[in-house]
Amino acid sequence: MPNENDRNTVLVLFRHDLRLSDNLALCAAANAGRPVAAAFILDEESEGARPLGGARRWWLHHSLTALSKDLKTLGVKLILRRGPMAKTVSALAEETGAATVYWNRRYDPPGIAADTQMKSALQEAGIEAESFAGHLLHEPWRIKTGSGGPYRVFTPFWRALVEHVHPRAPADRPKSLKPFEGDVTGDALEDWQLLPTTPDWAGGLRKTWTPGEAGARARLIAFLDGGGDGYKTRRDRMGDDGTSGLSAHLAHGEITPFQIWQALDGTEELAGEDMLTFRKEVGWREFCWHLLFHNPDLATQNFNSDFDAFPWHRDDRALADWQRGQTGYPVVDAAMRQLWQTGWMHNRARMIVASFLVKHLGLHWRTGEEWFWDTLVDADPASNPANWQWVAGSGADAAPFFRIFNPVLQGEKFDPQGRYVRAFVPEIENLSDKHLHQPWKAPVEALRKAGVSLGETYPRPMVDHKAARENALSAYKSIRNAD
Ligand code: FAD
Repeated sequence: MPNENDRNTVLVLFRHDLRLSDNLALCAAANAGRPVAAAFILDEESEGARPLGGARRWWLHHSLTALSKDLKTLGVKLILRRGPMAKTVSALAEETGAATVYWNRRYDPPGIAADTQMKSALQEAGIEAESFAGHLLHEPWRIKTGSGGPYRVFTPFWRALVEHVHPRAPADRPKSLKPFEGDVTGDALEDWQLLPTTPDWAGGLRKTWTPGEAGARARLIAFLDGGGDGYKTRRDRMGDDGTSGLSAHLAHGEITPFQIWQALDGTEELAGEDMLTFRKEVGWREFCWHLLFHNPDLATQNFNSDFDAFPWHRDDRALADWQRGQTGYPVVDAAMRQLWQTGWMHNRARMIVASFLVKHLGLHWRTGEEWFWDTLVDADPASNPANWQWVAGSGADAAPFFRIFNPVLQGEKFDPQGRYVRAFVPEIENLSDKHLHQPWKAPVEALRKAGVSLGETYPRPMVDHKAARENALSAYKSIRNAD
């Protein structure tokens, strides 16, 4: 262990910023010209820390592998440690002889609490501790409404963001670092057992995603090469590959919104309506983080407390049918199976299945939020609860509760050729487009020809749309009457 006078190392922490470019903490370390040690801390123990779901654990394993390789090209080893942030980093700072610890800020409430505690512990030990921004275009405490409070509605938030926030140019990846040469060991990534084994359900994830900074860059380039063509309308078509697919890369900090902004700036063909819509979507991510920062209980408490009295049902069987994509509504089933197979679901489909769970089945939005948390590769502490509450009607700037998606009409409108349903619900692929979204209305002969036997090869609808809609509205009425 080094003595006080030898302290010279800069320790850089990686958490939700698994990249070398546009990483201000890493740049500061490079600029210091002193030996750099790099560490990733898996913290599932600090107070309130929410353990990662299975899909994010899978992603994390591969993203850390990629980061570790990238750091190696600069001669730096990524040290892996597991434990509560403050205690683990203090110990590592001691072992590496760190005089300085740099990190990029987190904005989730348990992350903020753990980092505040870490900063105090380091400063008490006489270690310089500094944090940097990078995960968001805006610092959530800086943007305020005219009356000085946080925003609750997206459009004025977005206007304020555009007006007051002028995204900085992204920082280059350091060309070289002076590596810390000390003999400090960390955990072996395999020992964290982030990958599923029995069973290995990650085959579809492997086929779909390339976690890591290079994978993120490739996605952005592929999206923009197509000029984001027709994004404004194509983004709603579930069978099209019309969105960027960047959400998990953003969630893991393999790419930053500053890098996206820079890529969108400058060329005229990217300045049209399509890309304005795309920027706004990234703006929704900012809005969700703004909401979480100002409402730390967003994942567990209704934003609109009127919903505390909502008469939710509990029905484990219905929940399981929804999770497994066995509801009998093809578009809902396609979406739930897409989620299970690939760890991702199209945004329109997320709205449809969320509405179905909450309004057709009457189950609490939290049960859906928890399932998404476990199964999405982009599961995000801000976007997931904010969007669930948005669909449920209990959230900020939420869709009104009485807007109940009709899964048949949604399928017909946003999957008119049935590409989405056929990709994930192969047992009904031979039905004609006309019957694909409501097989129970198909004549017996059409079902027979398509090889579909309702109740055997494919379920009948688990609830009747019209009756479910009426039940949902009367449940909603009960909380309105209580006002
Ligand atoms: P694109 O259309 O290419 O959009 C670009 C980026 O904008 C996305 O990567 C994402 O970072 C952001 N974005 C787009 N739509 C939204 C939105 N509605 N809210 C917040 N950010 C948005 N997104 C997550 O990243 N993590 C989640 O856990 C998550 N849970 C959701 C749960 C529900 C019930 C719903 C309705 C939406 C949820 N979303 C979540 C938002 C959205 O569905 C995904 O961000 C989007 O589908 C990701 O695909 P993409 O990267 O191709 O999006």
